Amino acid sequence: RSSAEKFEFQAEVSRLMDIIINSLYSNKDIFLRELISNASDALDKIRFLSLTDKEVLGEGDTAKLEIQIKLDKEKKILSIRDRGIGMTKEDLIKNLGTIAKSGTSAFVEKMQSGGDLNLIGQFGVGFYSVYLVADYVEVVSKHNDDKQYVWESKADGSFAISEDTWNEPLGRGTEIRLHLRDEAKEYLEEDKLKDLVKKYSEFINFPIYLWSTKEVDVEVPADEEETSEDEDSTPETTEEEETEDGEEKEKKPKTKTIKETTSEWELLNDVKAVWLRSPKEVTDEEYSKFYHSLAKDFGDDKPMAWSHFTAEGDVEFKALLFVPPKAPHDLYESYYNNNKSNLKLYVRRVFISDEFDDLLPKYLNFLKGIVDSDTLPLNVSREMLQQHSSLKTIKKKLIRKALDMIRKLAEEDPDEYSNKDKTDEEKSEMEEKKGQYAKFWNEFGKSIKLGIIEDATNRNRLAKLLRFESTKSDGKLVSLDEYISRMKAGQKDIFYITGTSKEQLEKSPFLERLTKKNYEVIYFTDPVDEYLMQYLMDYEDKKFQNVSKEGLKLGKDSKLKDLKESFKELTDWWKKALENENVDSVKISNRLHNTPCVVVTSKYGWSANMEKIMQAQTL
Ligand code: ADP
Ligand code: MG
Repeated sequence: RSSAEKFEFQAEVSRLMDIIINSLYSNKDIFLRELISNASDALDKIRFLSLTDKEVLGEGDTAKLEIQIKLDKEKKILSIRDRGIGMTKEDLIKNLGTIAKSGTSAFVEKMQSGGDLNLIGQFGVGFYSVYLVADYVEVVSKHNDDKQYVWESKADGSFAISEDTWNEPLGRGTEIRLHLRDEAKEYLEEDKLKDLVKKYSEFINFPIYLWSTKEVDVEVPADEEETSEDEDSTPETTEEEETEDGEEKEKKPKTKTIKETTSEWELLNDVKAVWLRSPKEVTDEEYSKFYHSLAKDFGDDKPMAWSHFTAEGDVEFKALLFVPPKAPHDLYESYYNNNKSNLKLYVRRVFISDEFDDLLPKYLNFLKGIVDSDTLPLNVSREMLQQHSSLKTIKKKLIRKALDMIRKLAEEDPDEYSNKDKTDEEKSEMEEKKGQYAKFWNEFGKSIKLGIIEDATNRNRLAKLLRFESTKSDGKLVSLDEYISRMKAGQKDIFYITGTSKEQLEKSPFLERLTKKNYEVIYFTDPVDEYLMQYLMDYEDKKFQNVSKEGLKLGKDSKLKDLKESFKELTDWWKKALENENVDSVKISNRLHNTPCVVVTSKYGWSANMEKIMQAQTL
């Protein structure tokens, strides 16, 4: 078209498209799920705007919030239309080609190292999956603020945009037309599409229709010859029906049944909200599938855990929280600048936002889920809603439920200490759950530690979830409760040591005597552990003692006092000799066994490990 404006795809986007086009990935079905998910997002957006401005919806069909799929077998076109928010010309340029999202290059990298294309939606580039099945794509779109435009591309490095003067006006929304490749002909079969929608889009909250062709039985008057013989006579085959009161009914003419093809919109999904159903009625498989569609995480793994509950009282809401099977690629990126939780907020079933600030504290942002509240007002702006006083209560309850869910995950794990006295039968039932908490800990342990640092209210609850290795853990993970249960008689403090690795710590002279005397010492080897231990002062009335710091007490040693006396001259001399080296004091102690002396950190000073961490950060 002569009026079309041409644009180059942004370089990363172009690379991504090349990868998709040349992909040998066999599961090409995913494009449909991505398109339906985009249509649903667009519908959510217009519905949200309509809460404060009814006008935006328009009239008649334009106001219908639905998704329509149509096939053109002859032209080999599959089109998907929504009456969502639509895209302005500028939106089309930016969203579909010129602005790479942060996920674009991350996804390209993933794909180059053999990643799974199925995860495309999580990286925010799902749209481009259309090129798995199409070699030419048109996007017709109408936004309330602009005219109707067509975006088109053959994925050859560029796309074109033209004002639409030839298609039927959409009213509002977007129609995506896929000109299918020969190998993708199967997507012109209605049954195939029905199956796919059922499989992938079960939890879409808008009706999805397919323009489907049916053979139907139609009653038509029987052939001429039979009835025209004697027009006035009553055909013998016509039955005389009598009603109960004996009234004579009109006589039916003779008819016959023939097959005819008709087309009509067929509804493919039943729009149901899983979270509104009773937890008793929802199967594990349904929860799992709902998680996949919610999180756009279509890997093979099930979520590690979920919690589905209704909160009652002043603030009423329903919520469904999930622990994902894996941490997302960017979980701790820009951790401190990002308040956005991964929960979708609904008010009375209307989607409000999936980027709501502060629904959960930062450290729980690894959770996915939805919150649907009846208490929050519907007809206010997002900003107003963000300020609403109920949110504090919702947040508090969500935290409590989330921590409960994680605690249960640990308790149900037969590898965990708390299940030691289960019967054999119970144990075999739990075989499947073996090691699940270790798996959780590997993926999200750091979040629990950040929680201990940030959330003073729930510090003790979070400390219960803490796991670590120790001088006695034998390669397994240990909890504080387990540590306490095997403390030696007379031991008052919980001993720990910090460093860069277990191997390095095992050789530490600070452990010599403790190990000899059979005390257990916790290894903290994550840089965040140093910060953690500045916040975690005690647990169940036991203080934490860093064994490389001043204050280590290993029970009474009667000889120590005498030794201190007799070596006083030496320690005094030593202190003087080190006068310029920032040494607080030189002491005789019973903490060593083979090593003659060690440098110990003062009680409130930075441990040697912390010094190292700080140095690494400033260099
Ligand atoms: P994501 O959906 O994760 O943002 P996509 O690659 O699927 O990433 O889509 C890119 C963007 O294109 C969307 O964020 C949206 O702005 C726009 N878009 C895609 N499909 C539609 C649609 N049907 N209606 C309106 N906007 C759309
Ligand atoms: Mg998308």
